[in-house]
Order: sequence, then structure tokens, then C-alpha cells
Amino acid sequence: MLKFPIFMDNHSTTPMDPRVLEAMLPYFVEKFGNAASRNHAFGWEAEKAVDQAREQIAHLIHCDPKEIIFTSGATESDNLALKGVAEMYREKGNHIITVVTEHKAVLDSCKRLEKMGYEVTYLPVKADGMVDLDLLKAAITEKTILISVMMANNEIGVIQPVAEIGKIAKERGVIFHCDAAQGVGKIPVDVQAMGIDVMALSAHKMYGPKGIGALYVRKKNPRVRIAPIIDGGGHERGMRSGTLNVPGIVGFGKACELSDKEMVEESARLTQLRERLREGILKGLDEVYLNGDPSQRLPGNLNMSFAYVEGESLLMGLKEIALSSGSACTTATLEPSYVLRSLGVGSDLAHSSLRFGLGRFNTNEEVDYVVQRVVETVRRLREMSPLYEMAKEGIDLKNVQWTQH
Ligand SMILES: *Cc1c(COP(=O)(O)O)cnc(C)c1O
Repeated sequence: MLKFPIFMDNHSTTPMDPRVLEAMLPYFVEKFGNAASRNHAFGWEAEKAVDQAREQIAHLIHCDPKEIIFTSGATESDNLALKGVAEMYREKGNHIITVVTEHKAVLDSCKRLEKMGYEVTYLPVKADGMVDLDLLKAAITEKTILISVMMANNEIGVIQPVAEIGKIAKERGVIFHCDAAQGVGKIPVDVQAMGIDVMALSAHKMYGPKGIGALYVRKKNPRVRIAPIIDGGGHERGMRSGTLNVPGIVGFGKACELSDKEMVEESARLTQLRERLREGILKGLDEVYLNGDPSQRLPGNLNMSFAYVEGESLLMGLKEIALSSGSACTTATLEPSYVLRSLGVGSDLAHSSLRFGLGRFNTNEEVDYVVQRVVETVRRLREMSPLYEMAKEGIDLKNVQWTQH
């Protein structure tokens, strides 16, 4: 039995796993203590729960629990990583390297730092969305203090060669920050093996609650120092003051434990669902293009452009399905996705794109329904498109002389 609307936008957020809710519930009313209250049982109880969550998170990413700094989410973690490293290492240099397809939390933090006198190199990506490691190496200078490259892209699902980047950063003595909001919980993450020094995580991208995240900050080889953005009681080793969100942290820990246990099976299942979706759509339609590398990508991500169709019109025709399009209608501008544009996807095809984000609670039945609805909606819209008609008649649209009215 299908339930509507169907949620297939798991890169924007994920539904919380009911097992996560169950773990959190006692920490709202019954066990409400402040984890910083050192002098009574309520505080000890909360602190114990926070410590357990730290261990669950640390186990998933292969670090020491003491290296986890709780924040409100990956946006804050990215800000803290970039601004905190920039401030702390200012004497060493003022140069930062990042990539054009990063999340806005990274790009806008870089913009802010540029205003403050830092220099930022924005590396381009190849047509498949991957960073060119030779360009990265060539961009490093004596003044470089930080490299920030995401693990997996939130639009096209492309997974960057993080371990290689970590190796390059280490060789050159540069700190490596990785925004892993889309990676942690979906693909294996090992900060040791990957040479990551600082890493942003978010609970609501992995079936945990919203408003809680973390920053992993390496304690040795090298010991990374981060200047805080929020000053106060000196919580989280002085890097992030403020009373801890105990229920959120407990839920985040539980979400990590579940991903740790179920990742292998879940990623195989999501890959199968993704392929079913991809094959179904390609069987029903021509002139459909995959965006991003076909193999180096998140199991649950499919991003496709449907030529001669507007992504927005497509979404309007698919109201009972929650998806995202590469035309940003949610923002005031009508700019197509900057990520797709960075791959060299033309403005038309960028506007024609849909992002399918499959997750833990999607089923084969939902995929089959979505395939059928996408195929019929694209066909219907193309029937109304003179451009599609002309292309089908063999007219090369590039050579058409359009008259001005
Ligand atoms: C969602 C996301 C963020 C922001 O995370 P929040 O916890 O929602 O602040 C940052 N980076 C990436 C890659 C994301 O997908």
C-alpha cells in the first residue's frame, strides 16, 4: 500500500528513525539534567548519556570520543571549522582552498573570510563532478592553512577522493576539513585512514533529529586548534560554549549506532532501489542525462536532466512526490543550480534536472510508482514542447534562426 505524499528528498533531510525517538524520549522530562551540572545525580545522568553518544559517534567515524564537539548542525560546524582554523592559524598564513561545488555553509564562510582579508582558491570540478587532484596540489602555497573539500555532494551525490586529499594535505602540512554531512552514516568514514583533521556532521541527514550536529577536531598528529565562534561557559573543550542539547545528542548517538550496524545492508538495498529507478526512467524516456559520476556516488542519489522539460513544471506535475529540482524556485532568483553549472551542464539542462534522494524508508513499490509518474509527466510536457517536436523531426536546434518578435 502506497502512502502519499511519497518522500524522495532524503538529501534535504531524513525522517527520524522511530528507534532514535525512543532513545531520546526519557531525556526530555524524566532525565532533564544539565550535562554540565557536576554536583548532583541529574547532571551525572545527563553527562553519562552524552558520553555514550560521543562513543557511538566516535565509533562510526573511527576517532576518540574526546574529539567530538557538539554543535547545532553541519552549517555551524562548517562555520566553526573554517572561521576557527582561519583565526587560529592566521600567523601561519591566510590562504584557504575549497571547491566550487561545496555547500553554501562552506562557500559563504569563505566569502566572509575573504572580506576579512583571507585569500580563497575555489577549485573547479571535472564534468563528472570530481575534484582534479593535480589542480589541488598546484594550488597549495606557503600561505595555505586549510583545504576544505566535502565528502559527498548534496545535489549530485558525487563522492570525492577524500583519502587522497588527506594524503596531499598531510604531505604539505595543511589542515584538511571535510564537510561529511552527506557521507557519514551512508558510506564508511574513517578519519584516520582518510587523513581528515576536521569534519562536519549533521544528525538530521542520517535519521537523527534536526538541530544537532558535531565537529570532529583532531587531537593528535597534528593537534588541531580552533578558535570558538560562541564564547561562554567553556563547554566542548572551549570550542563551543552553551548548554548541551542532551536529547538531541542522545538521538544523534543512537542514529550513529544504527547506521554503524546497518550500513552495509542499507547501502546495498539503496543501490538496488537507485538502479531500479534509473533503469525504469531510461527505459521509458529518451534524452535523459545523468548528472555526476555514475559510480563514485552515494547509494541513494540519482540526479537527472530531462531535456525539453522545465524542472519546475515537472515538480508541479508530480505534487504527490517530494523531490528537488535544479532550478532554485525556493530562492528569489531563478538561477539554475550552481553545482550543475559547475559541471558544465548548460543552463537549459540544469533547469531540467531532478534530484531523487532515496532513503531508509523508501520501498520498491514507491520507486515503481515514481518511475511511472515521471515517465508519463515528462512525456506529457514534451508533447506540448515545440522544441522537442522539432528535435524529433531532426531539426538541429543550434542552427535555427530565431526571429525576434
Ligand atoms: C545539509 C548539509 C549541510 C547543513 O547541515 P545542517 O545540519 O542542516 O545545518 C551542510 N553541508 C552539506 C553537504 C549538507 O548536505
